[in-house]
Amino acid sequence: MEIREKLERICCNNIAACTDRQLYEGLLEIVKEMAAEREKQVGDRKKKVYYISAEFLIGKLLSNNLINLGIYDEVKETLAQYGKDLAKIEELEPEPSLGNGGLGRLAACFLDSMATLGLDGDGIGLNYHFGLFLQKFENHLQKELPNPWLEKENWLTRTDVTYPVQFGGFTVQSRMYDLDVIGYENRTNKLHLFDIESVDESIVEEGIDFDKEDIRRNLTLFLYPDDSDDAGRRLRVYQQYFMVSNAARFILAECKAKGCSLYDLPDYAAIQINDTHPSMVIPELIRLLMEEGISIHDAIGIVSKTCAYTNHTILAEALERWPMDYLNQVVPQLMPIIRELDTLAKKKYPDKATAIIDEDNRVHMAHMDIHYGYSVNGVAHLHTEILKQNELNAFYKIYPEKFNNKTNGITFRRWLMHCNHGLSSYLDELLGSGWHKDAGQLEQLLHFADKEEVLRRLLDIKQENKRALADYLKETQGVEVDENSIFDIQIKRLHEYKRQQMNALYVIHKYLEIKKGKVPKRPITVIFGAKAAPAYVIAKDIIHLILCLQDIINQDTEVSPYLKVVMVENYNVTKAEKLIPACDISEQISLASKEASGTGNMKFMLNGALTLGTMDGANVEIAQLVGPENIYIFGESSDTVIEHYANADYVSKNYYEKDADIREAMDFMVGKEMLAVGNRENLERLFKELLNKDWFMTLLDFKSYAARKEEAYADYEDRMAWAGKMLVNIAKAGYFSSDRTIAEYNRDIWKL
Ligand SMILES: *Cc1c(COP(=O)(O)O)cnc(C)c1O
Repeated sequence: MEIREKLERICCNNIAACTDRQLYEGLLEIVKEMAAEREKQVGDRKKKVYYISAEFLIGKLLSNNLINLGIYDEVKETLAQYGKDLAKIEELEPEPSLGNGGLGRLAACFLDSMATLGLDGDGIGLNYHFGLFLQKFENHLQKELPNPWLEKENWLTRTDVTYPVQFGGFTVQSRMYDLDVIGYENRTNKLHLFDIESVDESIVEEGIDFDKEDIRRNLTLFLYPDDSDDAGRRLRVYQQYFMVSNAARFILAECKAKGCSLYDLPDYAAIQINDTHPSMVIPELIRLLMEEGISIHDAIGIVSKTCAYTNHTILAEALERWPMDYLNQVVPQLMPIIRELDTLAKKKYPDKATAIIDEDNRVHMAHMDIHYGYSVNGVAHLHTEILKQNELNAFYKIYPEKFNNKTNGITFRRWLMHCNHGLSSYLDELLGSGWHKDAGQLEQLLHFADKEEVLRRLLDIKQENKRALADYLKETQGVEVDENSIFDIQIKRLHEYKRQQMNALYVIHKYLEIKKGKVPKRPITVIFGAKAAPAYVIAKDIIHLILCLQDIINQDTEVSPYLKVVMVENYNVTKAEKLIPACDISEQISLASKEASGTGNMKFMLNGALTLGTMDGANVEIAQLVGPENIYIFGESSDTVIEHYANADYVSKNYYEKDADIREAMDFMVGKEMLAVGNRENLERLFKELLNKDWFMTLLDFKSYAARKEEAYADYEDRMAWAGKMLVNIAKAGYFSSDRTIAEYNRDIWKL
């Protein structure tokens, strides 16, 4: 049936008279129908991947699904004939709030690529009703609110799959909801989201507070509930077990339905454990196999050939270690198994560094994954090397064959075809559409490197995107920015290691320079977007600093013609899709060795922004691909940084004392102008933290950061040379397609 007919059927033959909401709901139905048809066509295969993750930051689905079904243009044109605007209809869709940052977005890109490559692979996670919090700014502070996103008509389909899930002392009933994952011109897979039947949204009080002990009602309300107290941490354990117990049962049921003997499980299922949140799937699967009459030792053998673990971070605080007390209370049925896994590991490998249960009676989830999984991967070359040589070296010595690297990627369907129509169609015009599925073909763009008209078009497209962003910022944030200024953007979760504070210090420095009469050649617009974890005090202080700077600078009539600061509220995928295509300079300034990979860096590069960054995470690979003349690298190397930590010899105060620029910018933070708009408590705490601790070495890199940035700003003035750099970045971005990443996971780990 033609799209027009389908739409007419839904709109009772009168598309023009339909409201945008009716059209949105109609399109939702059409997409679901078409996805189901494709699913029937492919059917099941023997082996399947199950990607278990606490987060899936999938973004809005309508446009992306239309693109992947190959009907985007047809729908858009048909609607336009009736005076309807697809972009307006899309605005009605709420963004699913099922993720937090890069890790969750990666999971979403991977689902897209699995379906696009025709691999049988489903995601499994939780259906958080309020997701991660909704961020509001009030009095220059972050305020957290619930983020309800589930409407009556939505992308989820309620299934008949339900399981009783046993916790210490009580049971909850689960239910599975399915969401279609539509590959680009290929198969449809599923994202399975588990919920509890007894969830109760009404228990949320002021802000995001609720009774953390009321598990029957609260279990699937929020992603990453505040873990600053025992009840909050225990709730996370409840969530994790609920997720993996459902996952394990669902996986076993699917395999059995295919006629699998449970001894052959590894031939039917590959389970990817995305970070440590799903780690309990290992003991849970062992437990379930034992219930089927399999011995514990056979069960351990089977599970160890089925599960593979991805490590996403080397920050110590993020490697989960749950006290035995919690586990005894929440999942007593797993404890005998975890003890046995620990005993067996200790017998073979007495090194304390590899113990599952440590001397303080805490269970190291990553250690369980490494001993009892068949693959351990890092997410960028440098990150994997640091795991092997430093953080997980004791394990690498035991199991060198398990360690492998899978440099992250992004789906080009969402991060170019959907978010940047101008550039995407121009690339089609120049190269044909082969790059949609074979991103390596973007490299052919290099043939146009000296074609002035191509370079001019790249600049025009960027300008168009900047204009669109300027309009959007005016409309949504009430800030006016100059579309001819340099758009310098840092958008990512707020964390000290990502060093938004360094960017903010630069903004202060620039402000003071302009005040002294040293005005930049061209105005600069510095854009931030970031949520801080609700209990992360210093991160919230950094947001406070940026919001105060925004206020002071934008209202200063001497400075604001040259410098503007915008902190975008509630940064999420939808905002990223508007910001990234409009970016000139992509800030990737983490302390070297701390950012596992980053994927924002890849999205920016693909959309023709130049990276200002440290040699960290995947920046290293970007730098190798584009060459030093097409990227702005600064800062100390990861080796030097690791040495500073080992020798404990970094003293931030020395940098403050010996450098006038640093001292001036730091002092401004707690000077009278700041205190006139901001809170003394927040600003002084942040000042002291940077002066006396500065764990992520902001002051160490500040000078080289500022110098490199000035260089980038100066280079920007040679528009043709700049466009040449943009072109190389776009052309070389093909390596960062998640299709490449997923093909590697399949080749080396899943082997479907
Ligand atoms: C890509 C993305 C991230 C990850 O950004 P990094 O810069 O790699 O930390 C976080 N949030 C959203 C909404 C994203 O789209």
